[in-house]
Amino acid sequence: MTAGGAGLRELVLASGNAGKLAEFGSLLAPLGLQIHPQSAFDVSETPEPYCTFLENALTKARHAARATGLPALADDSGICVNALGGAPGVLSARFAGEPKSDERNNLKLVQSLAAHADRSAYYYCVLVLVRHAEDPQPIIADGIWHGQFLEAPRGVGGFGYDPYFWLPDQQKTAGELDAAEKNRLSHRGQALQALVEKLR
Ligand code: IMP
Repeated sequence: MTAGGAGLRELVLASGNAGKLAEFGSLLAPLGLQIHPQSAFDVSETPEPYCTFLENALTKARHAARATGLPALADDSGICVNALGGAPGVLSARFAGEPKSDERNNLKLVQSLAAHADRSAYYYCVLVLVRHAEDPQPIIADGIWHGQFLEAPRGVGGFGYDPYFWLPDQQKTAGELDAAEKNRLSHRGQALQALVEKLR
């Protein structure tokens, strides 16, 4: 498989999240693209002030493309909890405030859900690929992954909210899946599959 249809040979990944970078690395390997993390270019973190995942991802992609002169792929993702009206959503990374902490985020979510019977939640991911900073036609793809938010963690795999994210079909949390299984099922994996289809 190649991404030659879109004229792409290399791109920069607009993320500094080590967990996401590892997932992207294996998911994008079959594309035959040269992929650079934005840390290789010292790209600064850009604010993500918007209330939609899409606007935040587009901002990150344009910022990385502007700083590097390369096509850029960004994602914005998060966990949305139905009983909390979709929170933490775009605020998932900093749900418990600064500095970012998965442990404090999970604790806050467990506490926020304590009085709720409905523990359904979903991960959402949107991917945006821009060929250059001013690209008027970004390529956009997204994915959703449904589950339940547990009261206690299970497993140590993945990152973020994974040890609390229960998957009824697998009878496991996302933190108990191996990396390949998570990539096959996850919101990010689904979004990337959709993006690859568009690049073809
Ligand atoms: P972003 O870097 O602004 O997209 O932040 C996304 C945040 O959502 C992460 O820091 C995690 O807290 C959460 N998140 C997104 N995807 C996942 C996942 O696959 N597993 C666990 N947490 C995730």
